[in-house]
Amino acid sequence: MKTDVFISGGGVGGLALALKLANRGVDVVVAERLSNKAPVYKGELLQPKSMQIFDGLGLFDEICSRSNEIKVLDMLELSSSLKVRDQSFMDYSVLPGKYDAAYMVHHEELKSIMLKAASSFPNFHYFSGTACKGYTDTAAQLQRGKETFDVEADFFIGAEGRTSVTRKAMDIQIKQTMYNHHFLTVTFPRAENFKDGKIISTYNRFLGLFPLPDQQVRSVYLIPEGDYQELKKKPISHFHKLYTDLAPVVDGYVQQLQDWKKIQLMIPVMYHAPAYVKNNKAIIGDAAHAVHPMAGEGMNMAIQDADILGELLADMKANGKLAAENLSWYEQVRYRRAEHVLQLSHLAALAYSFPFRTVSYLRQKTFERMEEDPVLHFKQMLNVSGLGMWKENVRDRFIQGGLIPKRVKDLDPDRKELKYFTENDDYPWKVEGLQ
Ligand SMILES: Cc1cc2nc3c(=O)[nH]c(=O)nc-3n(C[C@H](O)[C@H](O)[C@H](O)COP(=O)(O)OP(=O)(O)OC[C@H]3O[C@@H](n4cnc5c(N)ncnc54)[C@H](O)[C@@H]3O)c2cc1C
Repeated sequence: MKTDVFISGGGVGGLALALKLANRGVDVVVAERLSNKAPVYKGELLQPKSMQIFDGLGLFDEICSRSNEIKVLDMLELSSSLKVRDQSFMDYSVLPGKYDAAYMVHHEELKSIMLKAASSFPNFHYFSGTACKGYTDTAAQLQRGKETFDVEADFFIGAEGRTSVTRKAMDIQIKQTMYNHHFLTVTFPRAENFKDGKIISTYNRFLGLFPLPDQQVRSVYLIPEGDYQELKKKPISHFHKLYTDLAPVVDGYVQQLQDWKKIQLMIPVMYHAPAYVKNNKAIIGDAAHAVHPMAGEGMNMAIQDADILGELLADMKANGKLAAENLSWYEQVRYRRAEHVLQLSHLAALAYSFPFRTVSYLRQKTFERMEEDPVLHFKQMLNVSGLGMWKENVRDRFIQGGLIPKRVKDLDPDRKELKYFTENDDYPWKVEGLQ
């Protein structure tokens, strides 16, 4: 079999890329190792840039209708006696324009929306239960049950997540950073009127609550590395209390979880592959970078990689410019952006990594100033949203540290929008030309 683009892995990144390519008339084959839904929790928060990308693919309304819109993340810092000591907000509506919210969607449901949309194109071919085992010089070597077969292609894309065979075939090594904490993660029912995200912390505890549609809520609870096995030996009521202590809003709901087996362990890691491209191969999503989940960026980075690489491959095909050197545009656009998000998420993780009262106090003050200084607030939301990138400067750091006064005047919407990535920033080869 021969195709234009072969994609190894049908996760969010692989499917977003395949949909984009199929939509533009490129012949594409996706091989997905699993034949059923993935059994583990993965990212579920869609940031504004991902929604802009889905809008371009005609899926904005469908995703909105099957997700819970989140305008505000409510950040609560509690005292040792579990009383609210401070409250601040991260508010997506400081972002002007249509994409001014995040959306919580069930991970597998998002994949099924993309798969259904892609399946409407005759040039989209999806092999489920089919693993990519490696590559010859011209083909991907696939295995489905006992059967093995090859797919030849002009380009081969690794979208297999953390253990990427394509990355291995490209001989790209990664160096992982581990953290001193893990997370318990589980989804359970919620009250109908509980719709905004909540991050609740004390000096030594952290609970994130992200409401999903269908009156469910995804939760992440930070535990010290290595505590999971001991925790699981305790009665499930111990788990309920960890949650209800911090979040009375889940009382009466979290108790509906009656088995530790439903509660998964999530081990955060961070890495950034030194390159995304080699000859006619490229990697996207978790194959290229893994990010601490604190800022809810993992799946968005995969979707954003897919958008840039998809547009590039489709333009190459449309213009008959198939030189593999053109793939470097993808790395040029995405690498810097991904590095920035990795650092943001890493810093957010560090803010909750040390169980000391001084750290909790500094964190609370930093969030407070970030919310009250309109420029800092906009920068934070812009960087998290993926719509643009505006790094913090020395003045910002001084304001955050309380060394100089906060700004009071907000930027006007036109000035804010100047900070959004333009089409030229996203797809510079359209102006500069392909080889
Ligand atoms: C356990 C876990 C929990 C996570 N939780 C969160 C979270 O709470 N919040 C957050 O923001 N992010 C989270 N993430 C990160 C986020 O889900 C990922 O960043 C995102 O899913 C990356 O998408 P992807 O398509 O690159 O990779 P994946 O979603 O991992 O998809 C890769 C796909 O490739 C398939 N595959 C693997 N090997 C092969 C092969 N050889 N041949 C064919 N197919 C193959 C896999 O079955 C899978 O379907 C989590 C990740 C993991 C692993």
